[in-house]
Amino acid sequence: MADTQMTPGVIAGRLPPDAYAENFADLHPPLDRHEAAVAADRCYFCHDAPCITACPTDIDIPLFIRQISTGTPESAAMTIFDMNILGGMCARVCPTETLCEEACVREAAEGKPVEIGRLQRYATDTLMDRPHPYTRAKPTGRTVAVIGAGPAGLACAHRLAMLGHGVTVFEARPKSGGLNEYGIASYKTPDGFAQKEVEWLLSISGITIRHNKQVGRDISLATLRKDHDAVFIGIGLGATNALDIEGSDLPGVEDAVDFIARLRQSDDPATLPIGRDVVVIGGGMTAVDAAVQSRLLGAQTVTMVYRREAERMNASLFERELAQTNGVRIITGAVPVRVTGQNRVEAVEFAYAVQDGGALRPGPDRFTLPADQVLRAIGQSMVPITNDPADAIEQDGASLHTGPGGRTTPHGYVFAGGDCTATGENLTVTAVAQGRDAAMEIHATLMGDG
Ligand SMILES: Cc1cc2nc3c(=O)[nH]c(=O)nc-3n(C[C@H](O)[C@H](O)[C@H](O)COP(=O)(O)OP(=O)(O)OC[C@H]3O[C@@H](n4cnc5c(N)ncnc54)[C@H](O)[C@@H]3O)c2cc1C
Ligand code: SF4
Repeated sequence: MADTQMTPGVIAGRLPPDAYAENFADLHPPLDRHEAAVAADRCYFCHDAPCITACPTDIDIPLFIRQISTGTPESAAMTIFDMNILGGMCARVCPTETLCEEACVREAAEGKPVEIGRLQRYATDTLMDRPHPYTRAKPTGRTVAVIGAGPAGLACAHRLAMLGHGVTVFEARPKSGGLNEYGIASYKTPDGFAQKEVEWLLSISGITIRHNKQVGRDISLATLRKDHDAVFIGIGLGATNALDIEGSDLPGVEDAVDFIARLRQSDDPATLPIGRDVVVIGGGMTAVDAAVQSRLLGAQTVTMVYRREAERMNASLFERELAQTNGVRIITGAVPVRVTGQNRVEAVEFAYAVQDGGALRPGPDRFTLPADQVLRAIGQSMVPITNDPADAIEQDGASLHTGPGGRTTPHGYVFAGGDCTATGENLTVTAVAQGRDAAMEIHATLMGDG
């Protein structure tokens, strides 16, 4: 008998073969020309447009929407790419409901914003099928090492290459893209878009990527500082926080980011094993993505458990609703106390949380959820690139401390941006903005040196 959603254990192929393509289809399908014109017509082209202020990359949104209205989507794309070279990815993955679309005056007036994200995708898609639109300035003879080929590193590398500098990117993984390639949910960026975008971006030339080169293991920061005129660090958050409770080392308990990376690297989701009863611990974007994708792979029950109240979740209302419409149950105000099972996970015991001074503690009221798979999504942290105190970079807590333009201390000519820094929200668009701004600062510094 064929396996179904009800079959116990962690198995592949719970769904009929054609269900997977439908489940992992584009979350926000592209607009056609007519739909784009209608959506663009809703914009008031506000003078002091609040949507621009809400965009971390400061894209001139009314301008690009007007360019779509006047039938010049290629110009609209250039307006976007001038500020955000990963505008294609951001059009797909930005939580617009908490950024530009939340600020849109039509959201305040009617509860229905201009569809800025989908219009951005319409514009950027028109140019990404064509040759790369930027050329390089005359070579400056300066070289910059970029650590990490995620959104921050790629945005920095592209801007530096445009300005005529030679760029070498050191990337620990076998592919570029960072979490665009290994983390973002499959249904937000289907059809290999992350790699297509990297190829398009690199076709500016002047950027060499050295994959499988982990700084701190294969090459030191000190060597990069010596061999290059400047260094940019965009290493993201490589470590996941531990679930420090009894039984958390049982087989079947794993990091949600590893689960998502496996899914993103798979050519066929039907081959991916998934539990019948999946429990996801956490309340952020990673938790929602892991929970929704577990359901889409055919898990019978998926329960997301978060320790505080729903309003304090990092996942936006849109994402929480996405989880719920996909059949994910969300339980708030509860903390895990024990994972149980004979040879692998069978259940998780939770306690309703009680406030104790400033901290949350497990209270006396308990409940147990059956689970054959448990996904931890309780936060990530940076893995420092050096253990050498002489080479260390000042931190704000667990993240890198940066000043204006992404300058780090105490070494000159070392800059940083993206998730590994203590500033800004951990979003693709913020990483792009910080990478771009650091590139401008590096350029000004190197050119000022004469
Ligand atoms: C599961 C998940 C889903 C997400 N979904 C969204 C979303 O829908 N929308 C959104 O806006 N944001 C989302 N985010 C956040 C977003 O992905 C990040 O904010 C963004 O990728 C940060 O970019 P970055 O370049 O700083 O870091 P990363 O994307 O993490 O890239 C860092 C790169 O550096 C490399 N690296 C690390 N250490 C070294 C080293 N020592 N040497 C060389 N290379 C190294 C890594 O391999 C990686 O390629 C999500 C995050 C996660 C975890
Ligand atoms: S706030 Fe809304 S209506 Fe005003 S310019 Fe921006 S997208 Fe257009």
